[in-house]
Amino acid sequence: MTRPPTGVLNWRDGRHWSERELPCRYCGRPTNLRDSARHPAHKLCAEAAIRQQIADQAEAYENERLTDREEHP
Ligand SMILES: [Zn+2]
Repeated sequence: MTRPPTGVLNWRDGRHWSERELPCRYCGRPTNLRDSARHPAHKLCAEAAIRQQIADQAEAYENERLTDREEHP
């Protein structure tokens, strides 16, 4: 598995653990883990979301560049 360019989160930190099980914000299955914003999320789900976010941003950037080129040929 390739790591996201931002690196992986330090999930050993106690802040990423809660006694209460809540549905993961990404897949809906119960988890005791919390992401950096304290939302319930599995480690793998959160890391996949980070990678997806980066991919989306890269794509939006590409689309914007094409738009600019069309406006200023
Ligand atoms: Zn999940």
